[in-house]
Amino acid sequence: MNRSASPTIPALSELDRPALGKLLRDLKVESYRADQIFDAAWRSAAATWGEVSTLGKTMQEALAAALRFEAFSEIVREDAEEGATSKLLLSLHDGVKIEAVLMRYPADRRRGTGPRATICVSSQGGCAVGCPFCATGELGFTRNLTPGEIQDQVRVARRILRAEGRDLTNVVFMGMGEPLQNADAVLAAIDSLVDPKRGAMGQRRIVVSTSGVVPGIARLASERPQVTLAVSLHAARNPLRDLLVPLNRKWPVEEVIAAATAHHRTTGRRTTYEVTLIDGINDTDEDVRELVRVLRGSDAHVNLIPMNAVAHTPWRESTPQRIEEIAALLRSAGHSVTIRRNRGRDAGAACGQLTAER
Ligand code: SAH
Ligand code: SF4
Repeated sequence: MNRSASPTIPALSELDRPALGKLLRDLKVESYRADQIFDAAWRSAAATWGEVSTLGKTMQEALAAALRFEAFSEIVREDAEEGATSKLLLSLHDGVKIEAVLMRYPADRRRGTGPRATICVSSQGGCAVGCPFCATGELGFTRNLTPGEIQDQVRVARRILRAEGRDLTNVVFMGMGEPLQNADAVLAAIDSLVDPKRGAMGQRRIVVSTSGVVPGIARLASERPQVTLAVSLHAARNPLRDLLVPLNRKWPVEEVIAAATAHHRTTGRRTTYEVTLIDGINDTDEDVRELVRVLRGSDAHVNLIPMNAVAHTPWRESTPQRIEEIAALLRSAGHSVTIRRNRGRDAGAACGQLTAER
């Protein structure tokens, strides 16, 4: 099979406003249509040029011949949890498959928040870091995603929600891949998400989760200071973290925490530390003591994640009782702690289960 590595025509998400303006001029389409096109792409439920009702049929056809409406050649959707979670299996033009997971949450009267919806996006095909408890790590690395392929995961989520009369409220870089090992594309995608003419989202509604790419954390602080940083810590002792997050051999615990602390100092934004709890592996008394020690004085938020089962390892989540004990210990050390309710397990769409297979 001769599968071309580059698509014959570009995707809309690969063009910024000036590039779209130029293409419209070449097609003899009035330049004011660019705003209409971005508006339809980001704020309507249209999934094809034919559904962009503000354009006439001739223009729809001319655009369809010159520009792909979205970056994906196929989108397979699997719903779970009575429609609250949708796993999106997305095929890219060169056959690479990635996943994004859309999670809907009801209004929370106690907190005074309205209905929310979060899209968990991928930044790479597979991942090179190779954490042994993560299905994406087990896959290995295929390639970096382009800014357009990242931002279109968000656009697809928005149009699905739009058709339901809902809005997207949050974007988290917690799908496949290590976002700060593809930082150029991730930062460019964030630019389109926050651009008032395109995504028009607040930077604060975006979370970048990293396994600890120290230079990338510094770059995020200086270039997109309002984006929320989440650090996948998992262990506070270097020998254990070397095993759980192999990148730790390059940037050990103390350097990762120093980078996150510097991020907090320059941005004023509180860091979230994620700790995936694995029964008998990183939930011992000594692990918790070390965790409390390294986070002392950091004013961090800690998110405890019960490990989701993945096929290639017998490791399992810590017991609910142990997770509560660890949460209580961290709270008594002055940290704010949440225990993540894992979404999407029955669709293989929970954290660390993403393999882009049906
Ligand atoms: N590569 C980045 C972002 C993607 S992973 C990172 O590691 O931070 C997103 C989150 O899912 C990380 O906190 C990761 O540790 C967690 N995760 C990976 N595998 C998991 C599993 N099997 N169960 C629960 N969480 C997992
Ligand atoms: Fe990569 Fe994150 Fe999975 Fe580790 S947990 S292998 S960094 S995606």
